[in-house]
Amino acid sequence: MNGLRRREIMYIKGIGPKRAELLEKELGVKTFYDLLHHFPHSYLDRSSIYRIADLSGEMPAVQLKGRFVTFNTIGEGAKTRLVGLFSDGTGTIEVVWFRRIKTLKDMYVTGRDYILFGKPEVFNGRWSMVHPEIDITTSVGALQGLRGVYPLTEKLRSAGISSRVIHSYVQSALATVKSVNDPLPAAMLERYRLMPLLKALVTIHNPANPAELQQAKYRLKFDELFFLQLNIQRYSARRNTQLAGFRFPRIGRFFNQFYNECLPFQLTGAQKRVIKEIRADMGSGRQMNRLLQGDVGSGKTLVALLCMLIALDNGTQACLMAPTEILATQHFETISKLASPIGINVKLLTGSTRKKERDVIHRELEDGSLHILIGTHAVIEDNVKFKNLGFVVIDEQHRFGVMQRSRLWQKNSTPPHVLVMTATPIPRTLAMTVYGDLDVSVIDELPPGRKPVTTLLRYDNSRLDVYKSIGRQLKQGRQVYIVYPLIKENEKLDLKCLEEGYQSIRDNFPSYNVAYVHGRMKPAEKDWQMELFASNKAQILVATTVIEVGVNVPNATVMVIENAERFGLSQLHQLRGRVGRGADRSYCVLMSKPQISRETRQRLELMTTTTDGFIIAEADLKMRGPGDLEGTMQSGIALNLRIANLATDGTIVQLARDAAEDLLDSDPGLEHPANAAIARELNTLFNKQIDLSRIS
Ligand code: ADP
Ligand code: MG
Repeated sequence: MNGLRRREIMYIKGIGPKRAELLEKELGVKTFYDLLHHFPHSYLDRSSIYRIADLSGEMPAVQLKGRFVTFNTIGEGAKTRLVGLFSDGTGTIEVVWFRRIKTLKDMYVTGRDYILFGKPEVFNGRWSMVHPEIDITTSVGALQGLRGVYPLTEKLRSAGISSRVIHSYVQSALATVKSVNDPLPAAMLERYRLMPLLKALVTIHNPANPAELQQAKYRLKFDELFFLQLNIQRYSARRNTQLAGFRFPRIGRFFNQFYNECLPFQLTGAQKRVIKEIRADMGSGRQMNRLLQGDVGSGKTLVALLCMLIALDNGTQACLMAPTEILATQHFETISKLASPIGINVKLLTGSTRKKERDVIHRELEDGSLHILIGTHAVIEDNVKFKNLGFVVIDEQHRFGVMQRSRLWQKNSTPPHVLVMTATPIPRTLAMTVYGDLDVSVIDELPPGRKPVTTLLRYDNSRLDVYKSIGRQLKQGRQVYIVYPLIKENEKLDLKCLEEGYQSIRDNFPSYNVAYVHGRMKPAEKDWQMELFASNKAQILVATTVIEVGVNVPNATVMVIENAERFGLSQLHQLRGRVGRGADRSYCVLMSKPQISRETRQRLELMTTTTDGFIIAEADLKMRGPGDLEGTMQSGIALNLRIANLATDGTIVQLARDAAEDLLDSDPGLEHPANAAIARELNTLFNKQIDLSRIS
């Protein structure tokens, strides 16, 4: 493979330095390796030819076979175009060229058979096709198999580099490649029924039939996922053998007393199961790295607290980090209320903690009298030193920079156990890939008695009715969130939409106070506005998505989401989680403009039928792909998969993960000669990048 990486495409006939530069800039294709891994996004069935008489409505690109009847140059100057009338005996279509007219005029003649490939469109009542790809054909027999259609950019197109041109470059490259070093040993190919690498590369660009294409794709997807897993797991394997952690064998006074005397309710079955899983990790002598997933309101905080108590029982300290000051404060209030009665010292450290208090915290941390520290990223600053930190909880991890988390490692000579909590449900395949070295626990059960939030889809024209319902809830003493999209923080337009919304809400509900928050406010101002709402001094909160994480106002029973069509499903789900936290029935109203695509409508309708975060996350992954998923983007791990699709290739993800595990079990350092090629490929693929996976 490294041979392919060393050969530049510049030397392929017809490319040269200028086109090479363009291809690199537009597609990132510089070497033979890149070119052969620039896979078609779809295939054209070369054996299926459309009849012009059968063209109708909106069609994708099709193949037509026939002859040119006439050629005419029309218009002048910049508007000059060449029009060829093309007939296949069933009808005619106009073929139009705007560029390279001179060359083309000489290239094509009337009365000879051609195959056109392009998108037919109706223009002035006639079928036309602009800049189609054209093949000369001598007999229909030449039309066989599938031909790749390649991803392109506008710049490439206007430079005359069409899908067919890419195809020809690929063919030239393949013609000179006689062999590649397959990194996978023969035994693996056999075991997982994989096509040899060179054959897969040839086939993906020139499949004879769909079955063969399937085989080639399977091989290439397997490789992609296998090396990804190997990269993630080699660190986890290293940790398992080298990174010893605290062993917490005891359940002692703190845990028992709390469990018996202070627990405000029965734990749910899921909470119990998860605590057992965490306990097993903490007793193993290896450092724990576990992801705790649980929908909003599933009771993750209590689980975290009970686990922290086990750490205290074993003579260490614990720490909980939250992404914002508001959340840290909320956690502090909850946890100190629960834990202080049994003599546990809990303190809060954030950016706004006063110097005097800060000094006390530093002293108590170092002499060990402070048991649990709760805070924002202020807790990972270098001057915060623990006597013996045994357990760290990170809440809503996707808001934390990966690098910030890594600083936790340096707090102790023995690394603390780490529990990462998230309310963003991550589909299994994605979790296995992005968090490959974290073990995953799931709380899949809500505490009893929760009333699911009733979700309604309403269009802008029924706004008055929606306002009436809001009015009724306000009259009953409830509070209301109104959320506007602010997808990128610098979108002026969206901010305007929030400001206008704020005005209109004030006009419509003159007897109530309205608070507002958005991402561009100063933190202090934001906190102040949030506090107005939390303390019910304001009954309505107009906000952007900054409120989505963790905010807890049980008296709020209505969430209106404006322009809901612009949000992703997972984000809508997160937002909806802000209501339904108290005893009263709650509502989430998705406001949408009436003109939306069918797909968008389905997306919004799904929200009205389920409150299960995992169903929603799976649907989101299928519809939008992992790149967009909340959590992946923010976790800072770019997956950049070329061919595998986490939404649809779950089986291969699992297989690749098992294969990587097996290999590392038998050869942890990849030192066996049979695995040398694997080790080399792994290093080439990943050594250039900073390795983020080890820091989670
Ligand atoms: P999240 O998982 O969203 O962080 P929390 O830990 O904030 O959820 O819990 C949500 C609410 O449910 C809190 O008010 C908490 O006290 C309550 N709760 C947690 N566990 C239980 C339980 N087993 N039974 C009843 N209520 C519970
Ligand atoms: Mg929480």
